[in-house]
Amino acid sequence: GPSPEEILLLRKQYVNPAIFHYYKKPITIVEGKGQYLFDETGRRYLDGFGGIVTVSVGHCHPEVLAATQLQNETIQHTTTIYLNPQIALYAKELAAKMPGDLKVCYFVNSGSEANDLAILMARAYTQNYDVIALRNAYHGGSPSAMALTSHHTWKFNVPHSHGVHHAMMPDTYRGLYGSADPDAGKKYAADIGETVRFATSGKIAAFIAESIQGVGGTVVFPDGYLKHAYEQARSFGGLCIADEVQAGFGRTGTHFWGFETQDAIPDIVTMAKGIGNGCPLAAVVTTPEIAQALATRIHFNTFGGNPVSMAQGRAVLRVIEQEHLQQNSLEIGSYLTSGLHKLSQKHTIIGDVRGKGLMLGVELVKDRDSKAPASAECAEVFERCKELGLLIGKGGLYGNTLRIKPPMCIHRADADFMLAVLDEVFSSI
Ligand code: PMP
Repeated sequence: GPSPEEILLLRKQYVNPAIFHYYKKPITIVEGKGQYLFDETGRRYLDGFGGIVTVSVGHCHPEVLAATQLQNETIQHTTTIYLNPQIALYAKELAAKMPGDLKVCYFVNSGSEANDLAILMARAYTQNYDVIALRNAYHGGSPSAMALTSHHTWKFNVPHSHGVHHAMMPDTYRGLYGSADPDAGKKYAADIGETVRFATSGKIAAFIAESIQGVGGTVVFPDGYLKHAYEQARSFGGLCIADEVQAGFGRTGTHFWGFETQDAIPDIVTMAKGIGNGCPLAAVVTTPEIAQALATRIHFNTFGGNPVSMAQGRAVLRVIEQEHLQQNSLEIGSYLTSGLHKLSQKHTIIGDVRGKGLMLGVELVKDRDSKAPASAECAEVFERCKELGLLIGKGGLYGNTLRIKPPMCIHRADADFMLAVLDEVFSSI
């Protein structure tokens, strides 16, 4: 195959420059196994980002491979105009993981599509138009998902879909109400009501939020926030949409769904990424009553429910259960979290350590009092980790938060390696 230099040249010539790559000197990944990635020279890296929180059960998992290979050899594609057992069986198995009345699945291919569809469902069902999202949210790159997204680097100077308003981001590190305030959740949620009263007719179609803001830098909401937020949204006629694209599928460790960590039950759930362990699979799950709202028209998705994606989704669910990966997220996540807290006693560049399970964020600051973002230093840490064999992500409004979200099959020895690399890199900054 082409060398890394040749690949880079081909990308420069033939691939849209909007498609960016990580690292000053990008790396070529040619192979993956479990929680490890390998470059063209055979060098091994610990994958601390899982293909942007997507490879949930590990790279090239044998059971997932076997399921898709069998399906590929049987039938690859028909669309939903013919019956096929995979879509019905997967819908049933996925519904079994959902609380309450959330039982009806619509399969699509990406998180953006799922969020678009969820907004459409909410508008069709409520017959209201306005939507409240949160500042610092990321919901995707399609026109309406981009409208929900609230972060200047992800926006273009084009008209986004109308009727989306952004309420205060419930951030206890930088926001108005800190983690010491027991009512922070309730106070932040009150801003949803303010946003509705000032920006809309008083009736909304939906409130949408990630259960933990991912791209925005692993922002964990104060306890009770989502519950109060949902009460607010419902009082203005809105449905509550949980974007579980990153926080779902056992990653938080304590619960299968991120919204469960907040003791809140949404009306519509969107999911992607970890649901498919790397194949283009996403879903919108809602109640039978809300699902009915789309049945008055034809709404069709060519690849949605593709038998190969369904087979892969089914295998991923089985592996999460068989290998107790939610429990592993809890154990290794807690171990990593306490290791990161120890590092923060030693390295004052660490302003905040946060997250749940294997969805962790480390926010870097120039000094702890002013909380001035250490963005350049964060980029440096990120590069040096790569040189030492650790791949992680970064994000947040100021690009100063390291994001650690490895495949959920990671071991304690991997966590030790990760902590040792970070310790060495922080010491050298
Ligand atoms: N929602 C969240 C929370 C996400 O993190 C992302 C992707 N980073 C999306 C939606 C969009 O998903 P996709 O890129 O598959 O369209």
